[in-house]
Amino acid sequence: MPDKDELLYKKRKIFETISDEEKALADAYCEEYKNFLNKAKTERESVAQAIRLAERQGFAPLTPGMDLKAGSKVYSNIGGKALMLAIIGKAPLSDGVNIAAAHIDSPRLDLKQEPLYEDGDLAFFKTQYYGGIKKYQWVAQPLSLHGVLVKKNGEVIHVAIGEDKDDPVFVITDLLPHLGKDQYKKNLGEAIPGESLNLLIGSQPTGEEKDENRVKRTIMKILNEKYGITEQDFMSAELEAVPLMDARDVGFDGSMIVAYGHDDRSCAYAALKAILDLEAPEMTAVCVLADKEETGSDGVSGMQSAMFEDFIEELCEPFGVKPRACLKASFCLSADVSSAFDPNFPDVSDKLNTAKLGCGVAVMKYSGARGKGGTSEASAEAVAMLRSVFDENGVAWQMASLGKVDQGGGGTIAKYMANRNVETIDVGVPVLSMHAPYEIASKLDCYMTYKGILANYKRICQNV
Ligand code: MN
Ligand code: MN
Repeated sequence: MPDKDELLYKKRKIFETISDEEKALADAYCEEYKNFLNKAKTERESVAQAIRLAERQGFAPLTPGMDLKAGSKVYSNIGGKALMLAIIGKAPLSDGVNIAAAHIDSPRLDLKQEPLYEDGDLAFFKTQYYGGIKKYQWVAQPLSLHGVLVKKNGEVIHVAIGEDKDDPVFVITDLLPHLGKDQYKKNLGEAIPGESLNLLIGSQPTGEEKDENRVKRTIMKILNEKYGITEQDFMSAELEAVPLMDARDVGFDGSMIVAYGHDDRSCAYAALKAILDLEAPEMTAVCVLADKEETGSDGVSGMQSAMFEDFIEELCEPFGVKPRACLKASFCLSADVSSAFDPNFPDVSDKLNTAKLGCGVAVMKYSGARGKGGTSEASAEAVAMLRSVFDENGVAWQMASLGKVDQGGGGTIAKYMANRNVETIDVGVPVLSMHAPYEIASKLDCYMTYKGILANYKRICQNV
């Protein structure tokens, strides 16, 4: 008979059990994480930061025919928008690889390909939102602009405007409440139409009073002087408007972080940091930082792309191992955020089966909506294996699911990995205000996600 404390399960806050030494490690980890967040506000910036950190740890680009051996550290850069890293293990690749896969794109506002117009003597950029947003959250707050302009000759101009204190910022206006009689009657989803998400970018006219588009002309004059571009260059640009504020501590106790892009950079950074901290693993470790998750994982840099098979194939080839055999024996932690229980909105969650802030990395056996639609669902064997790894390595964790059965649900990249015959389970940081411009996560949960992924990378036992 187990003792009375073990007979019944009780979810506990990490604060109840963590030592002062480990709390200090968690705080230090979160300072690095915040630093990463502030420099990586887009998928492209995340890849650039990740490569910078990886090369410092001895990772080099994976090239065909490369001489790989245990301990080799390699990465593959997918067009600057997705990244895969690996450390070759001591065990043969036919034993499978140990994967942690997260995504580095976040909900935001993309500029349309013909964005610039003038109306009412003001200049604007038209946008199209990317991923699932609540449109009303993106008005009346400063936004910065990140991305690339690619000229016809192939020259790439990197843009990040608004991050420097002296930079201008951009804002989408909202209607004053005094004139909001009709707007108030609309439902939340319709009160701010997608076509009204237009960034205010200037008001100063150029040239003669009789001229047309004088404010628009001012904007193009400034952009031409700064970047050497003309209006047509927007057609081959990827510019993203993102929330301006850097990551900050939340609460008098500073126990939480508010930031843009916890989904999914809290898990992407955890997976990246884990593989960077890993030395001479038994099993080959693979870290995937995918793009396009928020729009369905389609496209070259998304998790449905063949980029992943190609990477596995290049790892297997020097050892004469069949990639399919390697995948079949592999295991994947799909590292993505989960929704934390929010006492302000208790009705949407099953309290018992929802992650609680500060109770550790959330493990989701399945995602999906209603009748588990669209989930790959991990096996009970995989959950048991992970329980054992986490418990033996002091990783605080909790089971979770996303919302009440009939309320809705969400997906991750788990199913795209599982459909490749890789046993896959979702783990990640519980988040409040998910998909809002600023999301909230517990520092200790962020740290435990890193610790959990690292423990799995270090695992010696075979995959399930
Ligand atoms: Mn996500
Ligand atoms: Mn998301």
